[in-house]
Amino acid sequence: MLVSKLYAPTLREVPAEAVLESHKLMLRAGYIRKIAGGLYTYLPLAWKSIKKIERIIREEMDAIDSQEIMMPIVQPSEIWKESGRWDVYGAEMFRVRDRHGREFCLGPTHEEMITTLVKNELHSYRQLPTSLYQIQSKFRDEKRPRFGLMRSREFIMKDAYTFDADEAGLDESYQKMYDAYARIFDRCGLNYRPVEADPGAIGGNGSHEFMGIAASGEAGIVYCDTCDYAADVEKAECEALPSQEEAPRELHTIGTPGCNTIEAVCEYLHAPIEKSVKAVALTSDKGGLILCFVRGDHEVNEIKVTNAVGANEVMMASDEQIRAAGTVPGFMGPIGLDLNKCTILIDATVMNMHNVCCGANEVDTHYVDAEPCRDFVYTKVLDIRTAHEGDQCPHCKGHLKEARGIEVGQVFKLYTKYSEALHATFLDPEGKEKPFYMGSYGIGVGRTLAAVIEQYHDANGAIMPKNIAPYEVIVLPVNVKDEESFAKAGEIYQALNAQGIDAILDDRDERAGVKFKDADLIGYPVRVVVGPKTLQRGAMEVKVRYTGEMCDLPLDGDYVSALKDILSKTL
Ligand code: ATP
Ligand code: MG
Repeated sequence: MLVSKLYAPTLREVPAEAVLESHKLMLRAGYIRKIAGGLYTYLPLAWKSIKKIERIIREEMDAIDSQEIMMPIVQPSEIWKESGRWDVYGAEMFRVRDRHGREFCLGPTHEEMITTLVKNELHSYRQLPTSLYQIQSKFRDEKRPRFGLMRSREFIMKDAYTFDADEAGLDESYQKMYDAYARIFDRCGLNYRPVEADPGAIGGNGSHEFMGIAASGEAGIVYCDTCDYAADVEKAECEALPSQEEAPRELHTIGTPGCNTIEAVCEYLHAPIEKSVKAVALTSDKGGLILCFVRGDHEVNEIKVTNAVGANEVMMASDEQIRAAGTVPGFMGPIGLDLNKCTILIDATVMNMHNVCCGANEVDTHYVDAEPCRDFVYTKVLDIRTAHEGDQCPHCKGHLKEARGIEVGQVFKLYTKYSEALHATFLDPEGKEKPFYMGSYGIGVGRTLAAVIEQYHDANGAIMPKNIAPYEVIVLPVNVKDEESFAKAGEIYQALNAQGIDAILDDRDERAGVKFKDADLIGYPVRVVVGPKTLQRGAMEVKVRYTGEMCDLPLDGDYVSALKDILSKTL
């Protein structure tokens, strides 16, 4: 490829909506262009990188005997109605009608379709396990498309599905896929961590997310400083914290005028926040008020609440809903309420506390010296708080640390959720009909590219890892008007490509400074400069983008091997 021919229009100014460095750089360097919210064109640079990521994925999928297929993007609503997800998926699903008025969706994921496929084709335990995958555009009408390729509305996903005869088989298929994901992200150069995850709308239980570590990541993760426990904060289990024993005192109310936040109450009463209980009022798609109580300085974890009440999603309750249950916004407490009018969930830590303060379900009033075990009414006591830095690890004596991550992939054990719903069965050795044990596995291809750039860039631009860089080496003649050095640069460029190095030649009649800047912005892993001065030394000057290291390579030596060696050692 010649830079003079490359369609990579650079931008001086990026739109203000681009806040992540990766998004800005991909726009500035001419990797992508936006067409509308969450819809992007991949220009040649991004497309070359994407193709390299896809190739890595294909190699690793093939290595675990997963076979590539291609399913339709447009999916009939019937199969989604059969699984029960047509209504559950909500506004995120792009829905369309054909000319006869029949409903379809643009696939946000393909569990229904693949299950429908195999139920007509896989009949016997002898055909199991089977593993199938595709790399295809997915459609999700995200509430807030943002961050460029990271959260777009049309994006490329590798989705894989496994079918096994039993749980042991599923465990094995899951582990194989998990290991393949680790190899894929290793090869992409990503700094990642697998974490325990909540399965969300996909369902089933048993799931891991692969998180690219980045301060700007949308996901919170916690990990143990001692053992290898790591989890999405949505999922991370919290131990019930112990409290010091205290002699119980008598429950009484106290006026707390205008104190409708827990912080205000504690300040007014000069009480430590760890001796208070705060309320969060939620409702769900199933309706009904859910009052959640946690220690004043803890946070309610909405995913845990969603799972506890068996809902698809929870949202803030309205003031009317709160009042209808016999309490008042700002002064809610789990004492004296009618459990027929609301669900009360109490975090396990709260039940260990003593002489606490909480709302008294009356305006400007709180209870003090409440004993949760003695005074609280509840539907369930369970873990509903969000894990935090310093919490004890649920698996060992270590403590949790917090980090942020970009979810680049997720693996799910679906068990028989979809096979049962869609009546997908096979015959076991005794000739008995059994539902498949399924797994589902996704990788965001574009998000992986964006996550890598988010991790590896500097003030001058992207720093592309060699395995997914659009080109591995840029050969940069300082002055194309200098015939001898330009010819030499062309010769090097030819030699590199002939011997399997993906090289590009900057043949533009531009100042060297401009070319250097562009090369840094795009982030080619290795830059080879040839000019009258380097020729005088009988050399080319090599610079590694990641480390900034420079060296001369003699022109009369085996420089191709030397460059392969340099590439093998860099990011
Ligand atoms: P998120 O929680 O970030 O919305 P998700 O958990 O809904 O993602 P999955 O259903 O697990 O996503 O999809 C598999 C992979 O597809 C994700 O791990 C992610 O890499 C990618 N992905 C999901 N949504 C998007 C999107 N809107 N834009 C780009 N990639 C996406
Ligand atoms: Mg996910």
